[in-house]
Amino acid sequence: MPEAKSYRIKEAFYTLQGEGAQQGRPAVFCRFSKCNLWNGREADRETAVCNFCDTDFVGTDGQNGGVFANAEQLARHLSELWPVADAIQKFVVCTGGEPLLQLDTELVEALHQKGFEVAVETNGTLPVPDGIDWLCVSPKGSASVVVTQCDELKLVFPQDNARPEQFDHMVAQHYFLSPKASPHMPPGTDLMKETHTRQALSYCLQHPKWRLSMQMHKILGID
Ligand code: SF4
Repeated sequence: MPEAKSYRIKEAFYTLQGEGAQQGRPAVFCRFSKCNLWNGREADRETAVCNFCDTDFVGTDGQNGGVFANAEQLARHLSELWPVADAIQKFVVCTGGEPLLQLDTELVEALHQKGFEVAVETNGTLPVPDGIDWLCVSPKGSASVVVTQCDELKLVFPQDNARPEQFDHMVAQHYFLSPKASPHMPPGTDLMKETHTRQALSYCLQHPKWRLSMQMHKILGID
């Protein structure tokens, strides 16, 4: 019999989805370790395909992180983080790193068995397993995007190698621009005076297909 696949998780926690079309919705966030567009080492950031990442996805040592021997074990772990009765719609956001390096149909099914609606936030460079309930694609840098259809396209803006016009062929229910976090932007910065926010806002006003998505969790200072 083939050995069951294990899963490496950096951290997992219960919070509110902070951005996009599901903003404000309670969710278990599951951050998968590793990304295919940067190895997570500061020394290699400059030469990485994606070089503005503000997420620690290396290893398995975060809150509720670890190595899970199979899909059932991870699904049970995530289900235990959901604090309210099962009758309430359970929602899990699989993020990273790049979750599609690990997330497979078996895990999606195990999460469904636990009553979860399954959302994924991916850079769009890898094939998507069957059964995903909500797909958010966020293209990064010059990486080729293979996904052409999704529920939301969320583009960090501005990016020299990933401009909104390059994704005109993609079919989505929602199109969002998310202002790129400026390096060393201290908490409490007046976002209306922040350059990327103003640029994103201006682009949306000129191209109404796109909506501005602000990161509520950063504004509120929650996880
Ligand atoms: S693709 Fe996402 S997780 Fe990977 S380096 Fe870029 S921002 Fe970070």
